[in-house]
Amino acid sequence: MSSHFPGDTRLDYKHTLKKDKKKQKSFPVVKIIYGTAILIFCIVSVFAGARYWWREHRFRYIVVHHTASDYGDLKYYREVHQKERGWSDIAYHFLINNGTANTSMGQIEESDLWKTRSRNFSTKVDYINYFGIAVVLVGNFENHKVPPVQRESLINLLVRLAKTYDIPPDRIIGHRELQQTACPGKHLNMSEIRESVKKSLGEK
Ligand SMILES: [Zn+2]
Repeated sequence: MSSHFPGDTRLDYKHTLKKDKKKQKSFPVVKIIYGTAILIFCIVSVFAGARYWWREHRFRYIVVHHTASDYGDLKYYREVHQKERGWSDIAYHFLINNGTANTSMGQIEESDLWKTRSRNFSTKVDYINYFGIAVVLVGNFENHKVPPVQRESLINLLVRLAKTYDIPPDRIIGHRELQQTACPGKHLNMSEIRESVKKSLGEK
């Protein structure tokens, strides 16, 4: 019967009310913290995803070069470009070997610039370096013809890149079509290269 005294009831009531007030106060704070954390996570994820998508899908051109020298592999030209030009890597994304410097004819090497989808340093046109994929063949095609195996390797690479990044063959350009230079040499006929890529894309 003692629990039915009015005083006791009031005490119990006040105590419960305090507890409830505490609960009501702390609940929104926790909710806000969780909500903010989830929101930040979502925003960061969306930005990271968009950044990754853009990094992977921004390519609109492929630019073809020659090294103007008949010797070397990716490591060799990377060292030359780092020491002589002060660049972080070789100027190009892909290099097609000619069998010198312990490589095999037509072998394709990928630079770190490609692995990180970074801009290249291959032309003086900044947006082309950003929106373009730079491919170089070892050799001087101002002096001699392109070896057939190396040419075939170039076509295969161009077809693969054109397909993957949805780049029309007309956007496969020689360095000399962009600025005053002999690169990639008079023996590397870019119109023929574009025609070969068109054929391969049409056949498949
Ligand atoms: Zn060039």
